[in-house]
Amino acid sequence: MLILVSTLVVLLASAALWNAFVRVPARASAGPGSGAAPAESVAHAASPAVDSVRDTARAAAQPAPAPPPMVVPPMGAGGPSYIVLLARSEIRRRIRSSAGSTYLNEIVSASTDSILHRWDGRVSSPVRVFFPPTTVANFQPAFLDAVRSAFQRWQEAGVPVRFNLDADSSSAEVRVQWRIQFEGERSGQTDVQWDEDGRLTSGVITLATFDAKGQPFGADDVRVLALHEIGHLIGLDHSPDQGDIMYTQPKVRDLSPRDIRTAALLYDLAPGPLRVGG
Ligand SMILES: [Zn+2]
Repeated sequence: MLILVSTLVVLLASAALWNAFVRVPARASAGPGSGAAPAESVAHAASPAVDSVRDTARAAAQPAPAPPPMVVPPMGAGGPSYIVLLARSEIRRRIRSSAGSTYLNEIVSASTDSILHRWDGRVSSPVRVFFPPTTVANFQPAFLDAVRSAFQRWQEAGVPVRFNLDADSSSAEVRVQWRIQFEGERSGQTDVQWDEDGRLTSGVITLATFDAKGQPFGADDVRVLALHEIGHLIGLDHSPDQGDIMYTQPKVRDLSPRDIRTAALLYDLAPGPLRVGG
């Protein structure tokens, strides 16, 4: 009996230690010293063709979901520290537990790199957005107002990132540009870059002025396109649900509660890699 009691005490003590370890670093970032990592680029597009290509690549490249991090702490050798791995584990747990309420779980499962990308600390210093002048056919000044209102919509939804929509070309981090049409079905594209810690650093949004059938877009169509592309700009990927603006081919014309919750969760988590091994 005495032995049993002792064992129980040891177990309880272990549990307390474990909790202390797990809880503290929940918001820790993936590591200091961002430096100038080679930027990566990804193209997001509202095209079934492009998206199906991406899905194929994912299916081939994506390993099974990462197992719980029951790993031996890496000692030295430049791998992530035990604390960092625990922090990633906690982030993955929060993403999994949000399934249904958000689509961040689907985004991470479908991604090939398992890195959370988002702007970081950009409320007090808004992201600088530039609108280059354009002579593209069917471009209308009302399109600019439509895009501005889409930026405003995301900001009003409570996502903690702000945009300065009056930046000049030399200081801009984001450009919003126009073209007549894309090949295939898509009508918009967003390219973003990030540093090694997953913090977004720049982006280019390209919007079409005509749809795939050659019909000219109106200002409200452009607003909907912009809502979707700005979702990519802030770090979201596609939702599998047609009720969300981040569905591959948007069927709705405004942000859904799930769009907003997904962005809110993304911005509540530290950016960076989620993998156990690196
Ligand atoms: Zn898209």
